[in-house]
Amino acid sequence: MHAFTFESQPQRVLFGAGTLHKTAAELDAMGVRNAIVLCTPHQRPQAEQVAGLLGHRAAGIFDAAVMHVPIETARAARRFAAQYGADCAVAIGGGSTIGLGKAIAFDSGLPILAIPTTYAGSEMTPIYGFTEDGIKRTGRDPRVLPRTVVYDPLLSLGLPVGLSVVSGINAIAHAAEGLYAPNGNPVASLLAEEGIAALGRALPAIRRAPGDLQARADALYGTWLCGKVLGSVGMGLHHKLCHTLGGSFNLPHAETHTIVLPHVLAYNAAAADGAMQRIARALGGTDAAQAVFALARDNGAPLALKDIGLRAEDLDRACAIAVENEYPNPRPVEARALRQLLQNAYDGVAPT
Ligand code: NAD
Repeated sequence: MHAFTFESQPQRVLFGAGTLHKTAAELDAMGVRNAIVLCTPHQRPQAEQVAGLLGHRAAGIFDAAVMHVPIETARAARRFAAQYGADCAVAIGGGSTIGLGKAIAFDSGLPILAIPTTYAGSEMTPIYGFTEDGIKRTGRDPRVLPRTVVYDPLLSLGLPVGLSVVSGINAIAHAAEGLYAPNGNPVASLLAEEGIAALGRALPAIRRAPGDLQARADALYGTWLCGKVLGSVGMGLHHKLCHTLGGSFNLPHAETHTIVLPHVLAYNAAAADGAMQRIARALGGTDAAQAVFALARDNGAPLALKDIGLRAEDLDRACAIAVENEYPNPRPVEARALRQLLQNAYDGVAPT
C-alpha cells in the first residue's frame, strides 16, 4: 500500500425516513435561534414545511436559488440573511440551493444545515462556486462545509425519474474520478466503490417504481458516499470538461455529467486499470465505461450533447477551453484525442 494522507472533515449526518422532523432539535443543539430557509421557487412548499417544523426558530424563507449561483442572487441572499439577523442557513434542495447557502457562508461564516433532495452531493463538500460576468469560479473553503446534513429519503420521492437518473450518475462521476485521483487513498476508494454500487442498484429500481422508499434511501446513501469522495480528493478530466460545458455553454449540470462520464472513462481506461475494475465491479459489469453508458441508456437518460443544447460549432471551442489549463488526469489530456471524445459525446455513440 502506498503512503497517503486522509483528512477527516467534521460533519454531523442524520440519515433515514422521517429525519426531517429532527431538524429543530438539531438547530437547538447548534445554538441556533434565527434560521433562514433557502430553496428554489419550485421547492417553496418543501421550504414552508421545514419552516413550519422549525417554528419560532425560522426567521424567513429565501426562495430564489437558481443553478450556478449568480453573484446577484448570492448578494440578495446575503442581504436577506443580514436583514433577518440570521444565525444559520437551512438549505433544502439540490446543489443549486446548497450552493447558495455556501455563498452566504463564504462571506459571513454562517453555519449551514443542509437537507439534500437530489443526488448532486454538494452537502458533503467544502467546494463553493459563483457565476460572475458569465464565468463560474469555484474554490474550497472549510467555512462552507455544511455543519449538519439531514438525509431524509421521503423528500426525494417527488424527484422526477429523469432527474433522479442523471443526478445519480452525477454522483457516480465524483466517485469514479476519486478512484484515480492522484491524492486518492484507500478510505476514499472504499467509499467510492460502495457509493457507486448503491446508486447502481438504486437508479433502475427508482425507474421502475419512483415511490420505492428503499431505493430512494439507497440512492441517498450512495450520494452521501460519492459526495464525500468529491469533498476529499481531487477531480480530473471529467469534472473539468463538465465545468467547461456547463459554465461556457450553459448546458444542464447533471445531464452533462451523465453524457460525458462514459467517454472520459473510456479515454482514461488504459491509464487507470485498477479504478476501472472497481467501477465495473460496483456496477456488476466487466468494463467501466460500457457499464456507466448502459446504466444511462437503460434508464432513459440523454446520451448525446447535441440533444441537450450543444451546437456542433461549439465543439472546437469547448476542446480549446478544456486544454487551456493543466490538471491532474491519469492519461495526459491531448487536444486531438479530446476532440474525438467530445465528438463521441456530442453524437451519443457508445464509448470507444
Ligand atoms: P438543482 O439543485 O439545480 O435542482 C434541479 C431542479 O430540481 C430544481 O428546480 C429543484 O428545485 C428541483 N428539485 C430538487 N429536488 C427536488 C425534489 N426532491 N423534488 C422535485 N424537484 C426537486 O440541481 P442539482 O443537480 O442538484 O445541482 C446542480 C448544481 O449544484 C450545479 O450548479 C452544480 O455546479 C452544483 N454542485 C456543486 C457541488 C459542490 O460540491 N459544490 C457538487 C455537485 C453539484
